Amino acid sequence: MKCFICDSEAGLFCKKDNFLIYKCGTCGSGFTEGLEIKKGSYHRDEVYIGGRDQFVNIFRRRVELIKKYFKDPGKVLEVGSSIGTMLSIFKKDSWDVRGVEISPKAARYALEHGIPTTYSTIEKADFPEESFDAVIINHTLEHLESPKDVIKKVNSLLKKDGLILIDVPNFGSLSAQMQKNKWLYLLPEEHRWHFTEEGIERLLSDNGFKVIEKFMPSGVFDYGSPMLELWQALKGGKKRFFKDLFMAVPALILTMTGKGTSLTVLARKK
Ligand SMILES: [Zn+2]
Repeated sequence: MKCFICDSEAGLFCKKDNFLIYKCGTCGSGFTEGLEIKKGSYHRDEVYIGGRDQFVNIFRRRVELIKKYFKDPGKVLEVGSSIGTMLSIFKKDSWDVRGVEISPKAARYALEHGIPTTYSTIEKADFPEESFDAVIINHTLEHLESPKDVIKKVNSLLKKDGLILIDVPNFGSLSAQMQKNKWLYLLPEEHRWHFTEEGIERLLSDNGFKVIEKFMPSGVFDYGSPMLELWQALKGGKKRFFKDLFMAVPALILTMTGKGTSLTVLARKK
């Protein structure tokens, strides 16, 4: 088996249900062997609609990360924009927003709520070249057919010096490497690709980008405001609150040592 990013030799990492997960010996990236994803089988439209406040706080960290590089509002595209929650934060801040989404229900919801959304895959979407200041791929790249093709396409859509923000579950996290087939985010029936910091950097640098920032946060530190999350969790359900609270110290340690469960990478078009 060869790594889908760096072409090095990959060995068997673990087995879950009928799926075999391989891991690259060089960049640590993983992949689920022979997975055919049924189009639209993994969308959680209801979860996004029901948990909107929580997601606004989660997405706020991503939005702020991009915004600090721009003096004035620009034009942003989100690949896999679902019901348009992240784009609605940009829109409030006067950005020109576009979404591309393959769940018809989510795309319709976004459109009805004022977020221009194209019902398509990114590969087939017909946007003008060099027309965006920033592109976001948030918890989507791990589902797509060819991460390389997607990154190349995004590069062509970005203006000179444009930014790409990628967010994926961190396969290099302590929890992924220790828990193996019990890892919460392995989801081999949905996730074809399992990314590490090294793998994403290689994927980006091979396809016209230079990484400028990266974070590997865990727990409440994945939120724009950890305190707001604790407050909302307390109001919404005691179970989530106590989990957030008891996990806060380990989550802080994981976040500070780069071993958290989430992987956020910001890169600039070369
Ligand atoms: Zn590799």
